[in-house]
Amino acid sequence: MKKLKWISLFLVFTLFLAACGNSESETSDEGSGSSGENTVYKVGIDTTYPPFEFEENGEYTGIDIDLITAIAEKQGFEIEFSPMDFGGIIPAMQAGQLDVAIAGMSITDDRKKVVDFSDPYFDAGLSLVVQEGNTDIESADDLKGKKVAVKKGTTGATYATENTEKLGIEVVQFNDSPAMFQEVANGNADVLIEDYPVIAYAIAQKDLGLKIVGDRLNGDQYGIAVLKGENTELLEKINTGLAEMKEDGSYDEIINKYLGE
Ligand code: GLN
Repeated sequence: MKKLKWISLFLVFTLFLAACGNSESETSDEGSGSSGENTVYKVGIDTTYPPFEFEENGEYTGIDIDLITAIAEKQGFEIEFSPMDFGGIIPAMQAGQLDVAIAGMSITDDRKKVVDFSDPYFDAGLSLVVQEGNTDIESADDLKGKKVAVKKGTTGATYATENTEKLGIEVVQFNDSPAMFQEVANGNADVLIEDYPVIAYAIAQKDLGLKIVGDRLNGDQYGIAVLKGENTELLEKINTGLAEMKEDGSYDEIINKYLGE
């Protein structure tokens, strides 16, 4: 009889412990799951891309940096920047090393196969750029036999490689924009293809010995990318934040900060 009493007491005690344990783990799960406060989203950036992304006094700065920082603050999520060559950004997303990319990245149908884009946030478009003294290239019709410098993984590179035969050009590829600018400035290549706002800003900032020629080659628009189908909630937050910023004037403030007179 005595033995039975002890056994039942022991059983009650173990049940009590199990109940405590359960309720504890349930609350802690709920805590991190519902608020999402512990998630820090990794954001891929191309820091050789002023005025969108660059480094100043050891800090990342630029239109893209200010934009995603403000969106994250407004929408209550945390971010951490991962700088890399532009060509490495989408592969890094696919490998699960990045959650978001903001890198002056143009919205294209090809990229839409692997990433989801936010609403467009900037109108860019590709331009042809030659040495300041060049007089024989005025448009894409004058490229026959010319050496064209492009940056790996960009829409400029796609334009050049898709039209290599049609235009009769030779294409050389670089990892970052400054290296590509240098190639034309020092005469190793005849022409380069870069996003209009980026090359216009670079020429206004520094005497690069380069000039833009002809009309823009296309109407590329920038979007913020998240991995396809994986981050729909995050994408909604990004779009809501972006729309709010366009509405309340903070988007214009950022643009004026970098591009205003
Ligand atoms: N807008 C171009 C693209 O998306 C170039 C971007 C960049 O060089 N950072 O391909």
